[in-house]
Amino acid sequence: LTERLQQAMGKLRKKGKVTEADVKEMMREIRLALLEADVNLQVVKEFTKSVRERAVGTEVLESLSPAQQIVKIVNEELTKTLGEETVGITKSPKIPTVIMMVGLQGAGKTTFAGKLANYLKKNENARPLMIAGDVYRPAAIDQLKVLGQQLDVPVFEMGTEVSPVEIVRQGMELAREKKNDYVLIDTAGRLHIDEVLMTELKEIKEIAEPNEILLVVDAMTGQDAVNVADSFNQQLGITGVVITKLDGDTRGGAALSIRQVTGAPIKFTGTGEKLTDLEVFHPDRMASRILGMGDMMTLIEKAQQEYDEKQAEELARKMKENSFDFNDFIEQMDQVNNMGPIEDLIKMIPGMSQIPGIENVKVDPKQIARQKAIVLSMTKAERENPDLLNPSRRRRIAAGSGNSVVEVNRFIKQFKESQKMMQQMSKGSMPAGMDQMFG
Ligand code: GDP
Ligand code: MG
Repeated sequence: LTERLQQAMGKLRKKGKVTEADVKEMMREIRLALLEADVNLQVVKEFTKSVRERAVGTEVLESLSPAQQIVKIVNEELTKTLGEETVGITKSPKIPTVIMMVGLQGAGKTTFAGKLANYLKKNENARPLMIAGDVYRPAAIDQLKVLGQQLDVPVFEMGTEVSPVEIVRQGMELAREKKNDYVLIDTAGRLHIDEVLMTELKEIKEIAEPNEILLVVDAMTGQDAVNVADSFNQQLGITGVVITKLDGDTRGGAALSIRQVTGAPIKFTGTGEKLTDLEVFHPDRMASRILGMGDMMTLIEKAQQEYDEKQAEELARKMKENSFDFNDFIEQMDQVNNMGPIEDLIKMIPGMSQIPGIENVKVDPKQIARQKAIVLSMTKAERENPDLLNPSRRRRIAAGSGNSVVEVNRFIKQFKESQKMMQQMSKGSMPAGMDQMFG
């Protein structure tokens, strides 16, 4: 997909303006991209229609960078279709807030119940109670109990002989008595939708009066997930969707279709088997993921505006030879500044969003200005050869740039580390501690 799209974009880039035919060709690529990402055909049709309507307007035709505009429109429309903002759990005015998990077998309901309990505990200091409503496999009850033990969250169970409806009734009673603020009901799933299961879930719904019925779907099931979501919604009226197993390279295009078909918002995504592998859903990130390009296209576009090719080649050569000096540093900083906030740039690199803690990387523009002042206080020779920077020179630079010697030392050390890192990177390996480079 990415390759295809890139080719189409490349063609467009060479032209000054886009014609309607160009838009058409571009849309064809995007349609294929969406289908490859498992988006429902009907949804793709409607979606591309709305994008085309926007794209063929003057907005794109008069634009200086048409390819960029089209991708931007596609991204915006995808984000809109996915639900524009993040929606949390709907709480009950009085405790407990009751959340019921439903979905096919193996979708990740039990795991999600544990993840959610953990999330609520951590973020709201909540005291949830989990109810083991899957009585068809003894292992299912044990699985929930183990999660409960790990999290120090109580699990209410009555074995496999009592009906789930009765278990839920008694569990609710216990929660009211113990004043738990959340009740998480784990239910059984089947391999396929079946009437017996639906009847049971409806009965549980009646007894528990849940504030949320969250449909848990496995991102890897693709198109099938859409039909499943549709029938769960018809029968139970789901209030939200959880997409699990988004940790692999699944595009998660089904998410788009599910949202479209059920109208229910996607609330969380599961990104791994561990209890902490839970993310609040972000429509914009999902949009990029479905298009399969991080925001790489935008990044490439932005970069191309700012760098001319020769400069980039020169940089690559310097990185390799380790002759990247303070002059290059200043040049880089200026270019990077023109490209927008560094945090955004980092997030656009595919794979970077997977790095733990990348969310918290913050780059302070003031710090960059300070660093620039330090470099500007160096002599030409010093900029070209950091090894000249002895203590007395450092003192002079500190005074000249209005920084302390400590700050100057720290910056020089950081610079040398980035130099090393760049050398490693240009040899093709991703160095550890990448985030340190950004302060
Ligand atoms: P249930 O039948 O719906 O209760 O599904 P389970 O919670 O038992 O999960 C089925 C399998 O999927 C288990 O092996 C889980 O560890 C795994 N699983 C659940 N959520 C995720 C996820 O977000 N990512 C990955 N990789 N595995 C998951
Ligand atoms: Mg289960």
